[in-house]
Amino acid sequence: MVSDRFELDGHVYIRRGMKCNKEICRCKEGQLHGPYWYCDGIRYIGKVLPDEVLRHLSLRVAEAGKLKKIKDERLRVRNQLQAKLSSVEDEIDTVSAIQRGGSLDDRVLRRMKLTRFAVREV
Ligand SMILES: [Zn+2]
Repeated sequence: MVSDRFELDGHVYIRRGMKCNKEICRCKEGQLHGPYWYCDGIRYIGKVLPDEVLRHLSLRVAEAGKLKKIKDERLRVRNQLQAKLSSVEDEIDTVSAIQRGGSLDDRVLRRMKLTRFAVREV
């Protein structure tokens, strides 16, 4: 079952009743025609959604679990890459600090096997 409003591929689909232009009609008393589907509030579709839209919507439901799994995996990879990037940036900062005499991070020196550059505070 499709709700009266959903989004797909950047478009908003809405189903609503409409009034016609006849002077005398049941819609003038509130008995609207339709309901009909519209895309982005302007493009008329009709009473039934196109097959490819229905196919997409049922896939979205049927494969919701699979999609979540795929996304979770990519989020996990992104987190790993961000952690690695952060670690590499610390190492670049540490070597730069050695080169220009900046303050040194002992933990990073240990990790990089550069403890010989460690300096005791006086
Ligand atoms: Zn009417």
